[in-house]
Amino acid sequence: MKYYDKLIFELSKEGRTGFSLPENTWPETADNIPDGLKRSGYPDLPQVSEPDVVRHYVNLSNMNFGVDTGFYPLGSCTMKYNPKINEETARHPGFANLHPLQPDETVQGALQIYSELSDWLCSLTGMAAFTLNPFAGAHGELTGLMIMRSYHMSRGDFKRTRIIVPDSAHGTNPASAAVCGLEVVQVRSTPQGVIDIDDLRPLLDDTVAGIMMTNPNTLGLFETEIREIEASVHAAGGLLYYDGANMNALLGKVRPGDMGFDIMHLNLHKTFSTPHGGGGPGAGPVGVAARLEHLLPSPVVGKSPETGKLRTETRTQGAGRISGFMGNFGVLMKAYTYILSLGNENVRKTGPFSVLAANYVKESLKDRYKLPVESLCKHEFVFDGLREANAGDPDREVTTLDVAKRLLDYGFHAPTIYFPLLFHQSIMIEPTETESIETLDAFIGAMRTIADEAVSDPDLLRSAPHNTPVRRPDETRAATHPKLKY
Ligand SMILES: *Cc1c(COP(=O)(O)O)cnc(C)c1O
Repeated sequence: MKYYDKLIFELSKEGRTGFSLPENTWPETADNIPDGLKRSGYPDLPQVSEPDVVRHYVNLSNMNFGVDTGFYPLGSCTMKYNPKINEETARHPGFANLHPLQPDETVQGALQIYSELSDWLCSLTGMAAFTLNPFAGAHGELTGLMIMRSYHMSRGDFKRTRIIVPDSAHGTNPASAAVCGLEVVQVRSTPQGVIDIDDLRPLLDDTVAGIMMTNPNTLGLFETEIREIEASVHAAGGLLYYDGANMNALLGKVRPGDMGFDIMHLNLHKTFSTPHGGGGPGAGPVGVAARLEHLLPSPVVGKSPETGKLRTETRTQGAGRISGFMGNFGVLMKAYTYILSLGNENVRKTGPFSVLAANYVKESLKDRYKLPVESLCKHEFVFDGLREANAGDPDREVTTLDVAKRLLDYGFHAPTIYFPLLFHQSIMIEPTETESIETLDAFIGAMRTIADEAVSDPDLLRSAPHNTPVRRPDETRAATHPKLKY
């Protein structure tokens, strides 16, 4: 153990300080603080010097893995590089110091950014209007489903309480539907990994509110029957919801609005390069077709007909309020900067380059890893474990978990594992368009070495990782009995 691996409390020394505060000008007897809120003694903080504190936090940060430290091919999560210029604009004091209760006349710039970003998202997705208020993809799903319900109810159609969700869907889809009070009905995938239209047709009746789809789906495959699905769902009176978490694959090429989707969300923290992980912050804007625009949640940004100035407006119909104010403005600023700095031409290269990178990695590894669906993938793909995994031998069998753990030793973040649930040994890889070919080749090299090791020295994988600060935590215990402090 290195000296600075010690806990900061262990370095504490009575009387040592790492700061000098300005003199206290607050009156001794601060009458306006109620007794119950006053401290009775000093807080139990470590007494350490400034270098101790700096080393503590820098060393902690070095134990972490982020997209700024290495390749992060986490499928379904689009861990692309987050350009630092995004941070600069987001923390500009003119934006960072705004208060959400400021009068509209004093926040015209922020409202303009809100409205321009909405317009750009419309143009990239083919939707008619966007709200930027939801805080995450899942929050966007709930908002979108509330809009779907409002639509049916506003037409006096109260029977539509069921929602169709494919078996390959992300877990948030059925969860959001349940929170919205809808009954989830599953539709099967074909062996080719796309929605089975013959399974879908009999499900469609006048109790169906709509369908939730990801396209490309969680296998990275484009739903080739989308036209047929769209026509059937609409003919049955349902609406189509598009989970836009996989929008990266389509950006610049195909628009959900043109495929006939009525409602969708985007994950700005995935497709539009705002940092995420560890639970946020994010943004899940929701776009709708023109006939649903009046059902978007409030507040919305409008224009005063008298002064021509932008203003926030509250609508009486629709989803109501789904967030305190107008979304995660810092995240919106970063996505706005990202689109503006790429420009119209370059933002449209995102999809093609991310698809190229994914197919390159897939083709370079498929002789060593099982590819359950052989086809051109979009921005991500799924292997079903190693081809040579010593399957059936309890002392030598190498699982997807072992592969993922061993990758950490080679300095790569693990891909998404055991999702989608369609296969037993899923490894879901999404390289994104922001990685160089040298990085992709290094990753391919590590994956191939691991495939060799699985044959020559399976124990090396089964006991990996070997050089990370934490090795194999008991994941069940970590989830059921989390230790959240020293
Ligand atoms: C990430 C993701 C979501 C949920 O988005 P959050 O922002 O994490 O709430 C939904 N669907 C798919 C396919 C995703 O990858």
